[in-house]
Amino acid sequence: MDPRVDQFMAKIKAKNPAEPEFHQAVHEVAESLIPFIEENPKYKHAKILERIAEPERVILFRVPWINDKGEVEINRGFRIEMNSAIGPYKGGLRFHPTVNLGILKFLAFEQVLKNSLTTLPMGGGKGGSDFDPKGKSDNEVMRFCQSFMTELSRHIGPNTDIPAGDIGVGGREIGFMFGQYKRIRNEFTGVLTGKGLGWGGSLIRPEATGYGAVYFANEMLMANGDSLKGKIAAVSGSGNVAQYTVEKLTELGGKAVTLSDSQGSIYDPDGIDAEKLAWVMELKNIRRGRIKEYAAKFGCEYFEGKRPWHVKCDVAFPSATENELNLSDAEALINNGCKVISEGANMPSTPDAIELYLSSKILYGPGKAANAGGVAVSGLEMTQNSMRLPWSREEVDARLQTIMKNIHQTCVDFGTESGGYVDYVKGANIGGFVKVADAMMAQGAV
Ligand code: NDP
Repeated sequence: MDPRVDQFMAKIKAKNPAEPEFHQAVHEVAESLIPFIEENPKYKHAKILERIAEPERVILFRVPWINDKGEVEINRGFRIEMNSAIGPYKGGLRFHPTVNLGILKFLAFEQVLKNSLTTLPMGGGKGGSDFDPKGKSDNEVMRFCQSFMTELSRHIGPNTDIPAGDIGVGGREIGFMFGQYKRIRNEFTGVLTGKGLGWGGSLIRPEATGYGAVYFANEMLMANGDSLKGKIAAVSGSGNVAQYTVEKLTELGGKAVTLSDSQGSIYDPDGIDAEKLAWVMELKNIRRGRIKEYAAKFGCEYFEGKRPWHVKCDVAFPSATENELNLSDAEALINNGCKVISEGANMPSTPDAIELYLSSKILYGPGKAANAGGVAVSGLEMTQNSMRLPWSREEVDARLQTIMKNIHQTCVDFGTESGGYVDYVKGANIGGFVKVADAMMAQGAV
């Protein structure tokens, strides 16, 4: 326990009450940064840490829409414009009933450092709504998206703030929001990323977060003379990130044996091969069904209400949501031989689970490094939109791989301890911070 961290956190908590996820994210970063800032007092004098924990702007708005029964429904919309020191605000939109200000502030805060790590010129932001797309018709989702964008369109733009997808926001929602923005502003610009291929999207964007998390795991293993070939992996979630994690892992010779959703998890020791994955994609992206159906279809075990961390595996890819892996899950993973954690989701591990990873000296890639591939390819989508020139699949994938390699190297540069163990948490926090902090200092007290 560092009393300087406690003092700093006491102020954060007093200023941002009832936002536990935001406190958790800031605390983790402060633990790495406060000792670093003490050694580099220019950042202390300029109060950079205090400044980056305060959003530049928070927008909160009413989203009224009409359901299929003709009734009015009201949701709440948010956009957190966290930091624009190194580029326009950039970060996803989340549609999920649990969305609140504290969760979006935690995500926006993480996004600032993550975007900096990608080396691309992107500031950090995040937004969304407590709207639940589950169980809604396509028309209801469209009316909601149109109402949400009617307000959001006043605040964003291709050089100001460029949202993307996150939980509950995939290609369908991005399409409805893009259409409404274009209609209101009468301009065809790259104001959102994750667009369809025929209207400004980038190849590899849907795949990027999952592929990136797998590339990052492979980098960590390769730095230790190993690789993903032959490795067994536990994957959580069954949405965008989980699906493409399984795809790339299988391509690289690994075997994914689990998937989950908010109701339970499946364990398929034979492995989720390409054919089974295609079935999952149809189930989740088109029929929008439950992962339980996988167990019935392929004859494997289903654990109602359980997470997938209690199986034998070498690598774990948490790819669902925050705090989905706690201390007892981490103990089970490590006792079962798991040596690598690469986080596709944002802040999926609780602080005590992270402490255990670090004290057990396993390879632990935190979300802001391991899942940065998604926003990196969003950045490449912005570049292609500005050039009005699409890149090939190979070109985007090659750039993604280079970016993930560079992020890994930055973590090694800033996180290697005297005994040679790489603390990727420290590496990612300091590596992401320096560029943003230097830009803020150059731009004065703004
Ligand atoms: P999706 O909506 O496509 O999938 C989310 C998955 O997680 C679903 O299987 C969902 O199950 C499950 N899930 C959501 N909430 C919970 C919960 N409270 N408890 C248990 N399971 C839950 O989202 P993504 O795959 O895009 O996002 C997954 C994670 O990756 C998030 O943490 C997101 O912030 C992060 N991320 C995503 C990026 C992207 O490019 N999409 C980029 C970087 C990070 P169910 O269907 O039952 O709700």
